Amino acid sequence: RAKEQGRNRYCFYTNDLNRQAVDKLEIEVALSHALKRGELLLHYQPKVCTVSGRIAGAEALLRWKRGGELVLPGRFISIAEQSSLILDIGAWVIDEVCAQQARWRDQGLDMPQVAVNVAARQFAAGNLDAVLGDALSRHGVPPSCLELELTESMLIERPAEGVAMLRRLKDLGVTLSLDDFGTGYSSLAYLRQFPIDALKIDKSFVDHIEAGPDGSAIVDAVISLAHRLGLGVVAEGVETPGQQAHLIAQGCDMLQGFGLARPLPVAEFEALCARAAPLLHASSQN
Ligand code: C2E
Ligand code: MG
Ligand code: MG
Ligand code: MG
Repeated sequence: RAKEQGRNRYCFYTNDLNRQAVDKLEIEVALSHALKRGELLLHYQPKVCTVSGRIAGAEALLRWKRGGELVLPGRFISIAEQSSLILDIGAWVIDEVCAQQARWRDQGLDMPQVAVNVAARQFAAGNLDAVLGDALSRHGVPPSCLELELTESMLIERPAEGVAMLRRLKDLGVTLSLDDFGTGYSSLAYLRQFPIDALKIDKSFVDHIEAGPDGSAIVDAVISLAHRLGLGVVAEGVETPGQQAHLIAQGCDMLQGFGLARPLPVAEFEALCARAAPLLHASSQN
């Protein structure tokens, strides 16, 4: 009887594994078509300056319009990252952000810098500077319209090559920030050697801000660490007025989160940028 149960469990287990493998393969195949068929698009989430209260940047977030459904990156990015598909997708995202910046300039719109998320494999490929330089020159936009969000883990794997690539990217003139800061293998020793411009405090730390002084300890420390190193600091996943007030009081430079603005389709993002009223008000600054 125990044996039977064991066997049943084993069956469920292999069925589960098969199911996962099939799902993964199905997504991988569909995603490669999605790229060719133009089913990928970008949403733009504002980064709000705590001094002006206005939109001072944005992050491009990938979406997949699959039939009537809008699929989020959580469902497909890790699968894309397991193959060279992520290189094509990553290059498409960079190209699309440059194309969008060129359209905004043609329309005479004054739009902020846009950040692109970079996958580990895309960074490790060693030609990110070439991919970027090519997209910037093809669309005729300045490097200042682009920011890259990298993670600590991708830099620490091979620090010497990592630093060399960061230098080449900085030489191109783009802004660099470390995403999800504090969640990877943080190495404070390396932090000083990386020619980066800003740290993005991970949402998991922002979530704990209102859980008393211990809850905000890491956020407060990262803000002062960033400033001591001459770096900017952005908080991600800001949802509540209490979190906003705390981050402003601590001198965090920019806030990003559903509490300020969600990732938006391009037309809605343009409308929000055109609005005269600031997204943060003086009343929340005390
Ligand atoms: P990320 O770069 O850390 O982006 C932040 C994620 O948190 C986004 O999810 C965003 O929609 C979400 N978010 C922002 N504010 C809030 C908030 O206040 N509350 C909550 N609950 N969530 C918030 P999204 O768009 O689903 O993207 C997830 C991850 O997928 C990103 O994390 C990034 O690692 C990856 N990703 C997105 N677009 C790309 C891309 O073009 N290329 C690559 N390689 N990765 C991407
Ligand atoms: Mg990001
Ligand atoms: Mg992040
Ligand atoms: Mg994150």
